[in-house]
Amino acid sequence: MLAAIVVASTMAVYPPLRDICPARAIFGFHWNTSLLGVVLILFILTSMLVKRFSCKYLCPMGAVLAIFNKISPIHITVDQHNCTNCGRCEAECPVDIPAIPENIRSAECIRCLECIETCAVLETVELRLG
Ligand code: SF4
Ligand code: SF4
Repeated sequence: MLAAIVVASTMAVYPPLRDICPARAIFGFHWNTSLLGVVLILFILTSMLVKRFSCKYLCPMGAVLAIFNKISPIHITVDQHNCTNCGRCEAECPVDIPAIPENIRSAECIRCLECIETCAVLETVELRLG
């Protein structure tokens, strides 16, 4: 899946995928073909139906970040002794990672740090080196 995304992303700047790239259509103001119009409508519709559809299922950056999540020396950690299992961190996670805090090291984490911000128990969710 990652390989397919990387190849497709690379090819997006060259024909033929260049003509159906939503990023090019939006940021390059290339709305001049019916194909790009369809791509844009699909982009908007899927975003309305599924929260962050593009980020979750299409964005190649997410796939690349998932690799670096595994090897990064900086991790988000949860002190299980302090955690009250209130569920706030899972509810506030913008990419809907399931089973937080147990799954706090998920490859899907985008390191937004929202879980650290939202936890009301002091020094429970922290960013750590090592
Ligand atoms: S918000 Fe904090 S206390 Fe609540 S479940 Fe998450 S880590 Fe535990
Ligand atoms: S850092 Fe952001 S994406 Fe990662 S688990 Fe916490 S809230 Fe979710």
